[in-house]
Amino acid sequence: MKTGNIGVTTENIFPVIKKFLYSDHEIFLREIISNAVDATQKLKTLAGKGDFQGELGELKVSVAIDKDAKTITVSDRGIGMTADEIEKYINQIAFSGANDFLDKYKDDANAIIGHFGLGFYSSFMVSKQVDIITRSYQEGAQAVKWSCDGSPSFTIEETDKKDRGTDIVMHIDDDSQEFLEKNKIEELLRKYCHFLPVPVVFGKKTEWKDGKQVDTKEDLVINDVEPLWTKKPADLKEEDYKKFYRELFPMSDEPLFWIHLNVDYPFNLTGVLYFPKIKNNLDLQRNKIQLYCNQVFVTDHVEGIVPEFLTLLHGVIDSPDIPLNVSRSYLQSDANVKKISSYITKKVSDRLASIFKNDRPDFEKKWDDIKIFIHYGMLSEEDYYDKAKQYFLFKDTEGKYYTLEEYNTLIKDNQTNKDDQLVYLYAQDTESQYTYIQAAKDKGYNVLLMDGQLDIPLVSMLERKLEKTTFTRVDADVIDRLIEKKDQKHEELEPERGEKLSSIFSSQVPRTNKMDFHVEVKALGEGQLPVIITQSEYMRRMKEMAQLQPGMSFYGEMPDMYNLILNSDAPLIQEVLNDSEKQTEEALKPIENEIRGLNARQAVLRQEQDKKKPEEITQEEKDDLKKCGEDIEAEKKKKTDILAEYAKGNDKVHQLIDLALLQNGMLKGEALTNFIKRSVSLIK
Ligand code: ADP
Repeated sequence: MKTGNIGVTTENIFPVIKKFLYSDHEIFLREIISNAVDATQKLKTLAGKGDFQGELGELKVSVAIDKDAKTITVSDRGIGMTADEIEKYINQIAFSGANDFLDKYKDDANAIIGHFGLGFYSSFMVSKQVDIITRSYQEGAQAVKWSCDGSPSFTIEETDKKDRGTDIVMHIDDDSQEFLEKNKIEELLRKYCHFLPVPVVFGKKTEWKDGKQVDTKEDLVINDVEPLWTKKPADLKEEDYKKFYRELFPMSDEPLFWIHLNVDYPFNLTGVLYFPKIKNNLDLQRNKIQLYCNQVFVTDHVEGIVPEFLTLLHGVIDSPDIPLNVSRSYLQSDANVKKISSYITKKVSDRLASIFKNDRPDFEKKWDDIKIFIHYGMLSEEDYYDKAKQYFLFKDTEGKYYTLEEYNTLIKDNQTNKDDQLVYLYAQDTESQYTYIQAAKDKGYNVLLMDGQLDIPLVSMLERKLEKTTFTRVDADVIDRLIEKKDQKHEELEPERGEKLSSIFSSQVPRTNKMDFHVEVKALGEGQLPVIITQSEYMRRMKEMAQLQPGMSFYGEMPDMYNLILNSDAPLIQEVLNDSEKQTEEALKPIENEIRGLNARQAVLRQEQDKKKPEEITQEEKDDLKKCGEDIEAEKKKKTDILAEYAKGNDKVHQLIDLALLQNGMLKGEALTNFIKRSVSLIK
């Protein structure tokens, strides 16, 4: 028997491994099994080249738990190692500057392990002792047993081992006993070894017999050694892809379509990406792309490798060219990774473009489900926006789809305003914005449906990208002002009467800290509704953006501002005005006279003071003017009070306001009940 020290420059590497790799302990199993698979593949290669003439036999990797001995053993029938090879590959691990490195990458277990070829040593994360019992494939090789208890010293001795290959026996530490549980190991095997290229056997299949589960004679093979992505697309049918998807994501709905990735120059990459049917929540669906390295599972965190917007896709990517031995932040700047990322974007885009070109009806059918990816991509990747321009679609409120170009042509003539801006009208909800949509349609306008989660930021982006184009929601203004044309003239009410009318309605609109109304009088034409509620495009969009972006809470906390527009051409509004004038004439007359007098006096005072230099104006004169202003305000207040008093008792005013609120889904609770009661009594 021989003893020695492992060639590590660090005093004792094992505590370091344990400490820094803490969060990822479970990967030891992947590392040990990967080594076993490698050793098996190497033997196959040697046999293929004729350098190994012996019997290959059944090539598999077995995993066994011995609960009594507290060990996990991973056995292979691969090339094995001679004592010299153990010396070279296991004892002499290159580990210079280890401390510096560990410090730098302490959060990234994959980085450390990959970088230093520490795969085997990761077994010490869970073991107090590890034995290697191995016999090389070479003729007449002597089997050896290497053993190490976690200190830098090891023993190596000759031993008996009939079969070729290696057993790695891990004596599990007291604080890692969970790894002796069958369920735990099976879960890890399914996670990390699902698609390894050599069968991985974990005990026997079980069956239900005499009231309990018993082992059958058949091996329980954990993995699929030839996963779909390693096959040629030409040999695969639609059902194969769907079946594979179910295997990967048993809980998901059927995918919409998929893209088989296959490239070997300038980098190596295979995989399948699926467009899932998504159910509304962006975050829920992330981490559904698994990254493999030669069929060994690495991670399901692919950000940095796959463009952000494509992390919403599902599937697998397998590439030996993705550097796993660097930290995440370093990944993005890696030239290979950049190439991979833009390759994936291009592939996805090409696929979408080809479906669009070859089967537009099918593309349109899928549009509502895929638009979130496309919108996300357009918003987040400049390059992708240019690619997507050819196939991204607008959907109108009638369910028709248009490309950007088609839509432009459609609306150009009728929806260009007097400032030569092309106005895209849109609705976010066809039900609640029905009247506005209808009014726009009556004008011969087209209305888009923008009900997606990313439509609001998309609209802002398109306004920046497209020249002379604005987007306006159908209820942002009254129809004539949505798209202002040159020759629009209406007979507006005289200002004094208009003011009265707005006082009347203004006094009765609901006011809370969540919403506020600005009342305005406008001649909209006899045929239009008497009262219309609109919401400024700018304010509404700011508020919507505030919900998506932190740091805009200023807008988020403002009350919703609406415009309540009274159509002075509508007979009902004129009735209210005429009636109010009749009813309040007597009360208002003296006040109006008073106001007229005060206004005249104010004008004179102002004129006199304007003639003087500021220092010549006496305090008395200043007070006079101030008092006059205050008196006017007081009289006006009396006037609005009288109008409010009138309005309060006027069912028509209330009914008109409530109808406008109702139309916008804003009439609720007590107000709604009052409206219904009032309506009933009006019918009587
Ligand atoms: P890496 O696999 O990254 O080279 P490891 O520490 O996992 O680093 O393994 C070091 C070396 O030990 C391997 O390259 C291989 O030569 C040898 N080795 C490890 N496990 C086995 C095994 N099961 N059979 C044969 N050789 C092995």
